[in-house]
Amino acid sequence: MKYNELSAALTNMLTLRWSPVAVKLLKPGEKVPDNVYEPSVPLRHCQAITVARRGNSLYMPPSKHACPDGAAIMGLIPMSPKLRSGELYLLFKKLPTLECAQKMIATRQEFDPGTYTATVMAPLEDAEFEPDVVIFTLYPEQMMWLCCAASYSTGERHAFHTSGYNSTCADLTVQVIRNQKMNISFGCYGARAISDISDFEAYVSVPYQQLNTLVESLEKLAVKSIPEARRKIYMPPVIDKVSGGGPVAANTIELRIDEERCNGCGLCEAFCPEAVIKMVSIEGQQRASAPTAEKCCACYTCVGQCPQKAIQLTIR
Ligand code: SF4
Ligand code: SF4
Repeated sequence: MKYNELSAALTNMLTLRWSPVAVKLLKPGEKVPDNVYEPSVPLRHCQAITVARRGNSLYMPPSKHACPDGAAIMGLIPMSPKLRSGELYLLFKKLPTLECAQKMIATRQEFDPGTYTATVMAPLEDAEFEPDVVIFTLYPEQMMWLCCAASYSTGERHAFHTSGYNSTCADLTVQVIRNQKMNISFGCYGARAISDISDFEAYVSVPYQQLNTLVESLEKLAVKSIPEARRKIYMPPVIDKVSGGGPVAANTIELRIDEERCNGCGLCEAFCPEAVIKMVSIEGQQRASAPTAEKCCACYTCVGQCPQKAIQLTIR
């Protein structure tokens, strides 16, 4: 898929608020891509991502990096001694001791100074370069679907590695380029204080080489799972009447299947985890019945899956 097609598919399936941001680190001697421009003022890496997701394509040599920590972590410049020692983290009261600061610094990923000469970034749909990583600004529900998509074809779980410091430079850029594994970051002191990321948003960074596969998996999930979960199809209507405390009465669960509506598709029988529903033949027509309704656990799966809205579940 082309970049604009990938971006459109992701925006549509995840209902993205912000464009995914294509990020690339330029090696020494590497040509600056077309149609990126130097911002008029220096920006931090996290701010530049904010500017890019608003529709701008940026070329950021070291002179345009406002955060010396981020620029050094990404291998554009040498790390200043004060940042390398960790003492600034103590002055900001972000960490309690030099030992803690040095441990955090030693365990984050960095590139050696001079490995790269600039960063470039653009909204994915406008990128005229092959990105190293694509950075998403997402709500938790959108992050969940990206995780599901990444597990879709392999069943693998994900281990995310982050510290709450150096979020967009170390955790979303350097680490993802190095490990070629998706990572999550909740932002950091700098990224939260200096960008427009909302309190309800966080970041996911994906190695560009895996984006096509991720989109293919999302397309499968978007057929059924994503719209069903968003419609909250298993939400029982009694949920707002649930209260705690006091004596607990035994519930009576009534399961009614409307024979007139039922078209005999068998989805309720297939999905019922308790084998409560069985298909029976009534006057030569397949119809759903619930011969062991007392075993029903009130999961609402049959109610949510029935295309005919033929099942009514009442809890008394
Ligand atoms: S899912 Fe609905 S329509 Fe299909 S068999 Fe069950 S009750 Fe009938
Ligand atoms: S509510 Fe759940 S357990 Fe009960 S009949 Fe429907 S699918 Fe089966």
